[in-house]
This record gives sequence, structure tokens and C-alpha cells, in this order.
Amino acid sequence: MDKKTGAWRRALLILIVIAVGAAGFLTGRYISDAKYRAEKELDQRLSLSELDGLGEIDGTIYVTGHKSPDADTVCSSIAYAALLRQLGYDAVPVVLGEINKETGFILEYAGLDVPILLDDASACNMILVDHSEYIQSAEGLPDAHVIAIIDHHGDGSVTTGNQLIYDARPLGSTATIIWLRYRNYGVETDPQIACAMAGAVLSDTMNLHTATTTFADREALKELAKSAGIRDTDAFYLEMFKASIAYDGMTDEEIFFSDYKEYESGGTAFAIGCINAYDEDGARDLAERMTRVFSAAKLAAGMDMLFAQISILHDDLDITYLVASDEAAREVLETAFGEKAAYDGTSYRLEPGISRKQVLVPAIADILEAYPKE
Ligand code: MN
Ligand code: MN
Repeated sequence: MDKKTGAWRRALLILIVIAVGAAGFLTGRYISDAKYRAEKELDQRLSLSELDGLGEIDGTIYVTGHKSPDADTVCSSIAYAALLRQLGYDAVPVVLGEINKETGFILEYAGLDVPILLDDASACNMILVDHSEYIQSAEGLPDAHVIAIIDHHGDGSVTTGNQLIYDARPLGSTATIIWLRYRNYGVETDPQIACAMAGAVLSDTMNLHTATTTFADREALKELAKSAGIRDTDAFYLEMFKASIAYDGMTDEEIFFSDYKEYESGGTAFAIGCINAYDEDGARDLAERMTRVFSAAKLAAGMDMLFAQISILHDDLDITYLVASDEAAREVLETAFGEKAAYDGTSYRLEPGISRKQVLVPAIADILEAYPKE
């Protein structure tokens, strides 16, 4: 055998070794891919089996958020109804009142319709998103068939004897939970729905700035923005924020009630209206204007105490102004925040600002609990 033939044989041998190795590698990858797909499919089928557990559902399913609908409540209702429709259910999103300007901006940007208004939930199939309190929900809810609650607040007063899906997670927005549910069920969001959900995550987390923001919220926003074709979420948020503080053309009452929630503690009924301001002059002006609506608003809403929470939260600003409806309510604020906040005779100023859900509501509730109404 001459030198040349030997070299050819060695080259051929090396080629065969490479080919066998590559084939083995690709087969291994194919098998692990197939295994991964099968596992994922099984996970999705396991998630979907909870829908079988609900049995036959007779008639339309209405998906609703809370009264004084905000972006998370409205967009989550739309997204969850869309998910159920993709799975073959007759599901319709509804609202319990007029939507705010921020939500209007998001829906218009996404090219989605405002959900229809639901007057009475009696005898309806209901899914609640972003709340679980009767006081914040539809009229007639005690006589409705509640089949699911998807929420990121504390567990509220709504109860049911039948089996239901109760998915409450301490995440920054309900839309994030719904995004996870799309993933769990293996359903893709279409660009319009993704846009609405991205707006909801941005709104509830104030552009990922609130203390309630989690890894899941950041991932949800990234994915949803991508599928909605939103390149710059900061710019989108700034447009939303500008729409939300455009209170022109609204009366002081309408401003106070635009993001308004009712609560009860120690026998005292109280409510908090959240308002956004661009700067401190704007916040102080709004605080002054809110003092003028309280007495009529208290009567109209049948509340013992009202609070207005005015937030400046964009770029590096994070400030909250709190205003109370009367001396008793002011004493509650003084007890809760007197040491940390500066009082100017009208409002308490807190820096950094606070969250209604995580700080303000529990603080007020604790004090009212400790001094129950006779
Ligand atoms: Mn909400
Ligand atoms: Mn929410």
C-alpha cells in the first residue's frame, strides 16, 4: 500500500466517524425535542382539564372586571373572553361603568371595541377578573353563577357553592395572570389582544415601577409588546399616562370617581379615589379641588369616609398626596402617616409614594378595625 492510498483511507475513516457522530447527535436532539413537545402537550392538556371540570355551561359567559373600570380590569376582561372563545366557549367581555381615558387610549391604539355595559348579573354565568368583592362587582351577582375568579388582590367577599376556577396570584396585574393562562393552555394571543394586555400590565405596574411588580410581569410585558409590535414600551406608557391625566372636560366629581373603590372595616364604609398628576403644582391643585367634592360625593356614595390619592409617578418622580373628606378621616391619615408625611393643611405628602392596594387600604383598615364604629 503506497502513502497516497493510506492518506485517502484515513480521510475516509474520519469522514465516516464525523457522519456517524452527526447522525447520532441529530437523532438525540430529535428525540429530546419530541420528548419536550410531548411533555409540553401533556402540561397543556392537564391545564385544560380544569375546563372539563366546569361541565356543560348553559348560555353566554360574561367576563367582568370591577366598577370604575381601569385598564387592567377592562383589558383583562377582553383578553380572558377572547381566550375562552378560542377554546370554543361563548364568552363576552362586559364593563360595569364608563371606562377611563387611559383605557380609552389603549383600546383605540389596539383597535378594540369598548365592551358592552352589564346592568344586572342575576342568573348569568359570570367570570370575575381583577376583583372578588361584591361591593366592587355587578348588581345581582349574589344570584349569578360564578364560574371563575382571576385576581391579584386579597380574597374578597364573593363566594359560591359550586366548583370554580379561583386563580389568585400576587402579581403586578391581572393581565399577567391571564398571559400565564394563555401559555398554560397553549393558546397564542393575537396582536390586538396582546396590545391591550401590554397596556394593562403597564398601567397596573406603572411601567414596572410599583413594588407589586414581579419577574412574571416583566416577562409578560416583553412578550406581549413583541407580539403587539410595540417597539418602545416606555414611549407607549408615556402616551397612556398623558391620556390618563387629561382631566380637561371632566367635572371634579368625575375626576374623583374615575378610579374609585369602596371598602369596609370595623363597621366604617370608606372609599378611595386615585388620581394621577404630572407635577406637584398639578397634584396640589387636584387636592384642593377634591376637598370641594367630598361632602356631595360622600352622600351620593353612602360612605362614612372618603380619601383621594393623588400620584405623580413617571420618570424619576414617585410622590403621593393624600386628602381626607373630613376631620375623622384626616385623623385616620394622621395616625397612619403623620410621622412620615408632611401635612400642608389640605393634604399629606409622601415621598416615595405608596400603593393603594398594598399600603393605603391596609393602613386605613387596620386603624378602623382598632377603633370600630359604635
Ligand atoms: Mn383594577
Ligand atoms: Mn389590577
